[in-house]
Amino acid sequence: MNIVFTGHVDHGKSTVIGRLLHDTGSIPLGKLEAIKERCRKNSKTFEYAFLLDALKDEQSQGITIDTARCFFKSNERDYILIDAPGHIDFLKNMVSGAARADAAILVIDAHEGIQENSKRHGYLLSMLGIKQMVVCVNKMDLAKHSKKTFDEIKSEYATFLEKIGVKPKAFIPISAKNGENIAKKSKLMKWYKGGTLLQEMDRLHASKELGKRPFRMPVQDIYKFTGSGDDRRLIAGRVEEGTISVGDDVTFYPSSKTSKIRSIEMFNLPARESIGAGYSTSFTLTKEVYVRPGEVMCKTREKSSVLTGHAFTANLFWLGKEPLTLNKEYKLKLGTSKAYAKIRSIKRVLDASSLKSSDSKLQVDRHEVAECVIETVTPIAFDLISSCEATGRFVLVDEYEIAGGGIITGAMKNGRKELDEKVLLRDMKWVRSALPAKTRLGKYSHKPQLILITGKKNGNKPKIAKILEVLLAKKGYPAYYIGIRSVIYGVDSDIRSAERYRDEHLRRFSEVLNILLDAGLTVVATASDLHEDDIENIRKIIEGRKMTLVVAGEDYFVERSSAVNITDLNDPAKAAEKIFRRLSA
Ligand code: GDP
Repeated sequence: MNIVFTGHVDHGKSTVIGRLLHDTGSIPLGKLEAIKERCRKNSKTFEYAFLLDALKDEQSQGITIDTARCFFKSNERDYILIDAPGHIDFLKNMVSGAARADAAILVIDAHEGIQENSKRHGYLLSMLGIKQMVVCVNKMDLAKHSKKTFDEIKSEYATFLEKIGVKPKAFIPISAKNGENIAKKSKLMKWYKGGTLLQEMDRLHASKELGKRPFRMPVQDIYKFTGSGDDRRLIAGRVEEGTISVGDDVTFYPSSKTSKIRSIEMFNLPARESIGAGYSTSFTLTKEVYVRPGEVMCKTREKSSVLTGHAFTANLFWLGKEPLTLNKEYKLKLGTSKAYAKIRSIKRVLDASSLKSSDSKLQVDRHEVAECVIETVTPIAFDLISSCEATGRFVLVDEYEIAGGGIITGAMKNGRKELDEKVLLRDMKWVRSALPAKTRLGKYSHKPQLILITGKKNGNKPKIAKILEVLLAKKGYPAYYIGIRSVIYGVDSDIRSAERYRDEHLRRFSEVLNILLDAGLTVVATASDLHEDDIENIRKIIEGRKMTLVVAGEDYFVERSSAVNITDLNDPAKAAEKIFRRLSA
């Protein structure tokens, strides 16, 4: 069970953890003495918090153990304690999924009382979907073990938690320093009738085992086997939830492509029949499909598949120096997917500590929490936080820095126009030319067609295209060569950043091709790195017109093979002739 520890700085969080580890006998033999000895030598007072630091130093030398975690066993079960250093780091870890927690322990100093961060943390925990909370009122020794002090803090904090819809499982008066009510019942606070911290932790409910939930694997990468004649691909990623076996039908979202698991491959390990949550692995499929990193692989037969779309409602916590504003573009990271996103609307903004709320704010300032609607430029696959943690939370990046994060609370019907709708509208509004293409082009009798040359960058594509253009013209085709660059610097001069507007560049390029085709031309076009779904989109835009796909260099297409594959890139003339022969075949 994963438990996150939070609290205002110096309220004793590290001491509580150190003490828990010590009192449950989880400290390696001799460690405590060694630290005590070191303190004596340096004339420093021993602190239980040092135990934690010492263990962390040790752990950080191992490769697999995250420095923010430590482990211990009670009689009931295994625990992973997640130390949340500051609330900013804590939030970053929580929203990015680095720290996944089933429950939280919040530490409040009895002497100092409830601080801003005590509230902020409480709110964040509830906002992040962590509903189980235990509150430790620490340093009771400094409050003379007074029931009155404890009751006051308890009542004030419980009222606060109630407002945000959290009912804590327990309030425990403790003294971490002296080990009161940590693993042993305190004799100095007999008025307290509840359990010790350890007992209350053992009473928390563990969430359903990850392996038993619906299957989710965000695709991290796609690798190709390099062996000659082996054209299989490996779909790699980390299984976040669920279990899958060879032979299971799978669907990838948001593309909705389907296939079946052929094999499960582990690096340097024998292949296995099934695999479950927590493993990074790769799969081969019986039918090759073209999917991109960022898609989520689900089991086709499981009813609760991920949601897909362009918009969702979210609880978002903002950390950015600049306020979060409507209509500004941010980069959204969710699972392994990345998409450009905007805030479509802000429903409510709350100050995370005072909890003052506003329904009319149009921006979210630093350390504020907002309920908002987020819209992405490209469709993404996601889950509600209540269904799956890994695909139910996201971070927003502003100028290369994580500036906020949150959890998804609902799916929205998409308000954006899909490509299909755009094409439909265009066709409805299209004003036909008075001349049929045939008449306009006079003696030319060739039907309009597109020869689309793609492939990796630097494949001599423009050279090949231009030789082909000349060849076609000589044979009486109304040939016209156009490279995507001519569109990017002209039609697209209002959108320059190539990566950000890739889809829009392609859409506009395709619309230009469509106009040229409508004019009756034989269009030779070049664009690098087009993928299967790009080709599908181009096809949609140019509708039923003839298209010949040429790939210069490695033919990376999976679901459709290119009509012509140019393997020798150093001889553009020969390549152009090969294409021409294919056209006239
Ligand atoms: P953190 O910043 O929340 O991790 O706080 P630490 O665990 O480092 O504790 C801060 C200080 O409070 C240290 O000097 C601890 O010795 C002290 N402290 C922690 N728990 C207790 C307690 O129960 N009683 C008293 N008197 N001091 C404590």
